[in-house]
Amino acid sequence: MFSRILGAMTEAHSIIPITSATMRYVPDHDVLRAQSGDGLLIADALHRPLRDLRISVTDRCNLRCTYCMPRNVFDQQYAFLPRAELLSFEEIERLAGLFIRLGVQKIRLTGGEPLLRRGIEHLIEKLAKLHTTAGKPIEIALTTNGVLLSDKARSLKDAGLSRISVSLDGLTEQTFRRMSDSGVSVKTVLDGIVEAQLVGFAPVKVNMVLKRGVNDHEIITMAEHFRYSGITLRFIEYMDAGSSNGWRMDQVITAKEIFARIHQHHPLQPVDPGYPGEVAERWRYADGSGEIGLIASVTQAFCDDCTRARLSTDGKLYTCLFAADGADLREPLRLGADDRMLTGLIADYWQQRNDRYSQLRNIATISDRQKIEMSYIGG
Ligand code: SAM
Repeated sequence: MFSRILGAMTEAHSIIPITSATMRYVPDHDVLRAQSGDGLLIADALHRPLRDLRISVTDRCNLRCTYCMPRNVFDQQYAFLPRAELLSFEEIERLAGLFIRLGVQKIRLTGGEPLLRRGIEHLIEKLAKLHTTAGKPIEIALTTNGVLLSDKARSLKDAGLSRISVSLDGLTEQTFRRMSDSGVSVKTVLDGIVEAQLVGFAPVKVNMVLKRGVNDHEIITMAEHFRYSGITLRFIEYMDAGSSNGWRMDQVITAKEIFARIHQHHPLQPVDPGYPGEVAERWRYADGSGEIGLIASVTQAFCDDCTRARLSTDGKLYTCLFAADGADLREPLRLGADDRMLTGLIADYWQQRNDRYSQLRNIATISDRQKIEMSYIGG
């Protein structure tokens, strides 16, 4: 197997730097390139650079959100990955360093529930020491359901975590239970969010996925709860991720509808994106009480600006959240491939990338395609 991989790595697979010729058709990328200040960037088949890396550190979770890990699929019999299959922290650190050489500037740790991975702070400590090719510290972010956050916020901050996003889909126990299918109390998550603020994460972001008829009656309650708190609440359109949530378009509350509902109660004004390709559309309350984000992942696909690679729990590289296949990096890594070979594999795979699933999404693609579960590939 290894020889096949190495055999495939001919000179033709060497890293192709972005040149003014390849950049010409994508003016926004000139901005990105100027920001990076390095010469080793690669672009995919649609001229998108590699900027972000999402790493799933575990495929396990302590909630069973019905839209992500429904209990009837992820039950007692479900075969989660055995420990030996998981990338070790050393392996993650090494691969992260190679992704950075190719242009990555931000790393997000996710899962499954990343705080379930024992010693996650040690991984953060290692990653926080890495620098972009332009010499800037790498930004390390983490997405969590907040269940263990009260206890962990301080150690995560001390380890060097730059940003934190907490998922919370309702404020009443009844709604939270319906979304998370768990006995965890909302207060546990709210306490975690407060603790994250207390230890200095700013701003903490809270993500709410909306499912029609299940939690959309709490849009205003959530908006009002987080106004004046310094927390940015972001509403996410329910996506057809994975193959087990039984997604239907009529369950999606669109960003347009969310905007209309909030704007009616609390007028909103647009805010410029914080950086090119930001996925959330930003809005501020006209009365100055804070900011919200709308993530229209279904109705306004952001594939054109997607610069994200995903590393699964067991070391496969995926170039789209909706991918069916990935490139195995763990096997060559464990068989002794050197940095040049591994970098070549990553670069090669990225350069072939032409995914734009969300732009092409239609009924046929949804039903025909076997997609990777979000808990494994990393949300
Ligand atoms: N366990 C962590 C958490 O809850 O944040 C990290 C992993 S979770 C898969 C990451 C994010 O993906 C969460 O905000 C979750 O709500 C979101 N998510 C999962 N399935 C989704 C879907 N089908 N549509 C939209 N967002 C989804």
